[in-house]
Amino acid sequence: VSYEFGEQATEGERSDLQRPLVDEQVRISVVVPVYNEEEVIVQTYSRLKDVMEAMGGTYELLFVNDGSRDQTATILRGICRADERVRLINFSRNFGHQLAITAGMDHALGDAVVVIDGDLQDPPELIPTMVEKWQQGYQVVYAKRMERKGETRFKKWSASAFYRVLHRLTDVEIPVDTGDFRLIDRKVCDVLASMKERHRFIRGMVSWSGFRQIAVEYSRDSRHAGKTKYSMKKMLKLSLDAITSFSHVPIKLAGYLGLVSLFAGVVYLLVVLIAQHRATSVDILTFVALVLGGVILACMGVLGEYIGRIYDEVKDRPLYLIDSQEGLMSRRANCE
Ligand code: UDP
Ligand code: MG
Repeated sequence: VSYEFGEQATEGERSDLQRPLVDEQVRISVVVPVYNEEEVIVQTYSRLKDVMEAMGGTYELLFVNDGSRDQTATILRGICRADERVRLINFSRNFGHQLAITAGMDHALGDAVVVIDGDLQDPPELIPTMVEKWQQGYQVVYAKRMERKGETRFKKWSASAFYRVLHRLTDVEIPVDTGDFRLIDRKVCDVLASMKERHRFIRGMVSWSGFRQIAVEYSRDSRHAGKTKYSMKKMLKLSLDAITSFSHVPIKLAGYLGLVSLFAGVVYLLVVLIAQHRATSVDILTFVALVLGGVILACMGVLGEYIGRIYDEVKDRPLYLIDSQEGLMSRRANCE
């Protein structure tokens, strides 16, 4: 395993990161993205540690420090030195929650990877249930929020509206009211690593990948300390990434509008002719404006179709994913 370092990584950090973890194979990796979480991080660590120790088996806690400007990095470095099961990745600046998760998944060693927020809104105590489902053969276990405590009415409302709009606009079944708190199998983790798109909406990508998925329900706690690190701007970016990554509807909208305008123009002229038996120059102008506008917008819609396809090609997602195969492999082996 190799690690990348931000320019600010010191020699000390380097040796910490490269320390061989444990001899045994890591079974569960827990990825924790954190940004300015100095108030909760110690508590998060100790609760995660308790849960993972109680469960038995090898594990690693992989913190991804997303360019925190407070004491988060210092605290985590201390924890990392004291506990061989803790690893730390420091970003050179704030790259955002989704990229922090991506880095965590890319560097996780486990057969299963759990992603959990660092503010204790997602209860670590749910992890054993997730692992149980994983052992039963599910490859994605996502946590579905049944209630959200201690969040503003606006946040709840906007989140709920967002999930429902997204659901309507996309072909991919993205489950409503789930965040990034989930367990994914090594196979799914490798798939995500192979998807090189830059604007990442990870829950959507996980849904897109298919595989055997199941929900476990939980009640989302309020933040343990500190304030939300998701500013309005970041929330907006996330929803735009989500919609544009999984839907061409917005770019095709011009085309639909054009058709409506074209249709309105024709209907307008017909109505005028039937009612007045003649068309004034204003009527003709209105007709021409509607039809011409419609044609132009419809042409833009056609462009949209092509741009949408270019976008799909550029995203370079795998065309299909194979979960398992039988027979084929052995037959091929016989031929060779
Ligand atoms: N986070 C991050 N980078 C960011 C914003 C947030 O790594 O730019 C982390 C944050 O530390 C937390 C998780 O992502 O562990 C979720 O963020 P937050 O709790 O602020 O979001 P909310 O729960 O309010 O939606
Ligand atoms: Mg939170």
